[in-house]
Amino acid sequence: MKKTLLIAIALIAFSSCKDSKKEVNHNDVETEQVKNEKASIKLYALDGGDIKVNKLEIFSQGDMYIGETKEFEDAFYIIEHPKGRLLWDAGLAEGLVGHPPFTTPNGAFTVTRKDSVVNQLAKLKLTPKDFKYISISHTHFDHTGSAYKFADATWLVQESEYDFITSEKQKKGDNYPQIAMLKNVKKLNGDFDVFGDGTVVIKSMPGHTPGHQVLFLNLKDAGPLLLTGDLYHFQENRDNRGVPSFNHSVEETLKSMDAFEAFAKENNAKVYIQHSIDDFNKLPKYPKYLQ
Ligand SMILES: [Zn+2]
Repeated sequence: MKKTLLIAIALIAFSSCKDSKKEVNHNDVETEQVKNEKASIKLYALDGGDIKVNKLEIFSQGDMYIGETKEFEDAFYIIEHPKGRLLWDAGLAEGLVGHPPFTTPNGAFTVTRKDSVVNQLAKLKLTPKDFKYISISHTHFDHTGSAYKFADATWLVQESEYDFITSEKQKKGDNYPQIAMLKNVKKLNGDFDVFGDGTVVIKSMPGHTPGHQVLFLNLKDAGPLLLTGDLYHFQENRDNRGVPSFNHSVEETLKSMDAFEAFAKENNAKVYIQHSIDDFNKLPKYPKYLQ
């Protein structure tokens, strides 16, 4: 009787010991998994076309830059995460590929695009179907060009931007058709941690448009960084808090600039201005990537 009891106690002790061992191992595996996930996050910067700004004065509230012109890059990005791929922005209109430079009717911009997104993705043996998410900093024409190719992906969009671009007025405009195909919509109200681990976070920064947003990444080697969307268009805009004449709200833009700078400082994040040729050239040349 006593012997049986002892054996039973020993068995219980052994099995509970086994359980706690299992738990420890499980935690170790999880930590390793998070580490591995972070290690395999990659940022690719792609060329979505070139913009010549013929009237730089539209990027200020006053008469600054009158008579000046400037070349803009039109970058877009692939973020590869073990839990899926995100396309951030979508370049200029695909219809420009193979055509001479096009000047917008108001004369403000002359735009070109060298290659289609499908050709560009082929370098990584990918197609738009390989993307879980698409998110656009905002719905201006130079950020939505290839978006319609990603109809199978979930569109991560601020509700205020969605309501703006799907309004009756905007539906009649040039920017709507590029996003009209995006039917899997996840509407956001503020910041959104895309994969739930803090490595890829959409930050709500309204003002340029009603639901403008920027992207924060925390990479293993490159560290924390921010992609600006059109919060700033060039370095001088950032240095002197310049607000373009066509922004939705000056007040909201300035508030977003404050929030952005505070967040960048707090996280020690490198800032990449998406329309800056210099900043584009600081990133590895596609198909090389940052990780
Ligand atoms: Zn814009």
